[in-house]
Amino acid sequence: MSQLAYKRTNVYEKADEKLLKEIFDYAEGYKRFIDEGKTERESCAYVKQAAIAAGYKPFKFGQKLVAGDKVYYDNRGKNLYLIKIGTKNVAEDGVRIIASHIDSPRIDFKQVPLYETENIAFAKTHYYGGIRKYQWATVPLALHGAVALKNGDVINVKVGEDENDPVFYISDLLPHLAAKQNAKTLGEAIGGEDLNIWLGNIPYTAASDDKDKTVKENLLKILNEKYGMDEADFLSAELCVVPAFKAKDIGFDRALIGAYGHDDRVCSYPAYTALLDETENPHTTMVILADKEEIGSEGTTGMQSSLFIDLMDEIAASFGVSSAAVRANSMCLSADVNAAYDPNYPEVCEKLNSAYVSCGAGITKFTGARGKSGSNDADAEFVAYIRRIFDENGVIWQTGELGKVDVGGGGTVAKYIAKYNINTIDIGVAVVSMHAPYEVVSKADVYETYLAFRAFLK
Ligand code: MN
Ligand code: MN
Repeated sequence: MSQLAYKRTNVYEKADEKLLKEIFDYAEGYKRFIDEGKTERESCAYVKQAAIAAGYKPFKFGQKLVAGDKVYYDNRGKNLYLIKIGTKNVAEDGVRIIASHIDSPRIDFKQVPLYETENIAFAKTHYYGGIRKYQWATVPLALHGAVALKNGDVINVKVGEDENDPVFYISDLLPHLAAKQNAKTLGEAIGGEDLNIWLGNIPYTAASDDKDKTVKENLLKILNEKYGMDEADFLSAELCVVPAFKAKDIGFDRALIGAYGHDDRVCSYPAYTALLDETENPHTTMVILADKEEIGSEGTTGMQSSLFIDLMDEIAASFGVSSAAVRANSMCLSADVNAAYDPNYPEVCEKLNSAYVSCGAGITKFTGARGKSGSNDADAEFVAYIRRIFDENGVIWQTGELGKVDVGGGGTVAKYIAKYNINTIDIGVAVVSMHAPYEVVSKADVYETYLAFRAFLK
C-alpha cells in the first residue's frame, strides 16, 4: 500500500499477545461496571464509590481548591463530576474535560401505574429516550429505581437481577394471530401505550369479604411488606424498566461484548478509569458523568444545567483567575458512542466514513442531521491536535459518522460544552444495534478508548 494513503487499523489484526491480554482483562472490569449500573443512579453510586476509594473528597461550593486536590460533586445522585486539580496554571492550561452520559433508553413507570384487567395486574409506562418499541416485547425485564417517600426517605428498588428474582414482561402477539399486526410498519406495530408491564396474577383472597380481593390489592400488600410503600408513593417514584440481561461475551472468539446500556456507559467506564489511573498528570482534569442525554440533556442533572459552568467558575475562583480564561484554554472530549458499520444493514452507512467494530476509538468531527444541523463541528486544528496526541501515544483510532447523509442523525452533549468557548470533539466506541435492549461493542474498542482518554489527560 502507498505510504501516503490512509487506512484504518483493525486492533485485533495488530494486537500482540500482551495487548490482547490487556484488552480482555480490561473488558472484565467493564462488564462488572455495566451489570452493576443499569440506571444513572446506580452508575453514579458505583463510580462515586470508586472515586472515594481513590481518595476523592466531596466538593462544597465556596471551597478553595489547591493543586493535588481530588474532589467529586454528586448532583442529586444522578450526575457525577470528578475533578483533579493539577500543578499547571489553570488560567493558561485550562481544564481537560471528558464528558459522557450514564442514562440509557428504557421504559419508565408512569406516576399512577397500577391497573388490573381480567385478573392480570399491569403497570402503565412512558418510554425514556429513543427506543424501537417492538424490540422491548417478550424479553425478560428488571425493575430499577427509587421511591421517594413523603417523610424524606428514599427506597432503592432493584428486582430482576438476582438469579432467584422474578422478572417482568411486555407481551406481543403470537404469529398465528398476528396477520393484521404484521401488515403494520415496525414503528406502528407496538405503540407507546401498549408497553404495559405484566406484574401479577394472584388475587388477594385472604382479604375479608368487605375488602378488595383483587390482584392489584395483593400486589399492594406485597409492595407494602417489601418496601413499606402504598399506591400513592408511586407518585413520587422513579421506576425504570430495563432488560434483565447480564453482559456476556459474544462469539466463539469472545471479541465482542453484548449488554444493555453500552450507550453510553461504554465511554463512562474508560473516562473515569482513565482519570483514576492517570496519577502523574499535571493538568487540571474533570470527568463528567451526565444524566438526561437521551432526552436532550435537559433538567438539573443534564449537561445543559448551569452546574457545569458553576464548577468551572469555582475552579477559576480558587486561583483568583478569570473563568473566561480558564474556559478559553480548556478542551473537552465529548465521550459518546457512534453507530458501528453493520454489514447486515449496509444501506444506512457510507463505507468510507463509517466507524468499524474493532478499529479503535472513534472520533466524530460532527454529528447532527441533514446539513449538520444541531452539530458541534470541531475545528480542523483541534482534530489535528487530537490526532497528534493519539498517534504519539500509540492509540488505535478511526473516524466515524452517524449514518449516510440524509438517512437520519443524532446529537451528543458536545454542543452544550463547546458553547462555553471550549474546544470539544466527539469520541467513543462504535455500537451495533444502538438503543436496543442488548447492544454490542468490541472489547478492543473499549480498551483503545481508554488509552485515548489516558493520552488526552496526561
Ligand atoms: Mn449516547
Ligand atoms: Mn443514545
